[in-house]
Amino acid sequence: MAVRGGLDLGGTKIQAIVLDDTNAIVGQARTATPKGHGPQGIISELASVMREACDDADVQVGDLGGVGVGAPGRVDADAGTLANSGNLDGWRDATVNVVELLGRELGGGVPVFLGNDVSVAVQAEVALGAGRDIPSILGVFWGTGVGGAVIFDGEEWAGRGAAGEIGHMVVKEGGRQCPCGRRGCMEAYAGRGAMQKRAHHLHHDRGRKTQLFHIMHEKGKPVLTSSVWAKALEKSDGLAHELIDEAVEAIACATASAVNLLDVERVILGGGLGLRLGEEYRQRIEDAMLPHLFNDVEPVPLVLAEMGDFGGAIGAARLGL
Ligand SMILES: [Zn+2]
Repeated sequence: MAVRGGLDLGGTKIQAIVLDDTNAIVGQARTATPKGHGPQGIISELASVMREACDDADVQVGDLGGVGVGAPGRVDADAGTLANSGNLDGWRDATVNVVELLGRELGGGVPVFLGNDVSVAVQAEVALGAGRDIPSILGVFWGTGVGGAVIFDGEEWAGRGAAGEIGHMVVKEGGRQCPCGRRGCMEAYAGRGAMQKRAHHLHHDRGRKTQLFHIMHEKGKPVLTSSVWAKALEKSDGLAHELIDEAVEAIACATASAVNLLDVERVILGGGLGLRLGEEYRQRIEDAMLPHLFNDVEPVPLVLAEMGDFGGAIGAARLGL
């Protein structure tokens, strides 16, 4: 049986899987993304967690037909490099040849492929999930940042290399500072990273009451993860609701604007926070889009990603097919 390896490299965790030729996951392993040893430390960990997933699947690394990596940041798939990855230790100003270094760590002989994390997750939805048989799609992935991808005729539109950055659609001119350094981007209101910064400011500098940070410590999390936000919403935390409401409005506004331009047949909502908050918030974003949609007679359907937490790793494993 032909097997492939997939690695979903995120700012907080690395998910590794072994995928067989029926697209079934036959082995998996997960670890925290290392901090303090720079890109080389992360690459060594990628190799190590891939080996663990192989053990779990009872195969050798050398049996893999290929190993794909989905990573946040600017990917040059031909050169095999990842650059400007602000959420990875020591990678903000670095350009690193992941294909070459990981290939060496895996012992050589196994082809390594590299793709953008959101792009590979959307490709997995197109091939196997919520995007099957839909020619034109906008993917909106709501997590630490808000990433996107545009599919036309089943193929991703890459533009000049940076298409799909829906998180940096401007929703408020001169608005809040975005992690990208610009102002008023959707991600400045909706990205989990930006929301954490806002919550911290309102709580510590302005004395606003919230259970967010208490829940974070209780769960032993280093940051306000999706599960922390979900718990705070469940406990009717006022600040959490206020910030999530702002996020819903910002995502709806940017997504509706993008749909007015592209008129795609479907919008797929994914990402850690999108999947965690699930159907209730999918519905709220869909409702909040309506007043902004030019074609409000036949509004575009907004659906949840179907591949779940493994979507990124599955898409990565399919790179190079
Ligand atoms: Zn931005």
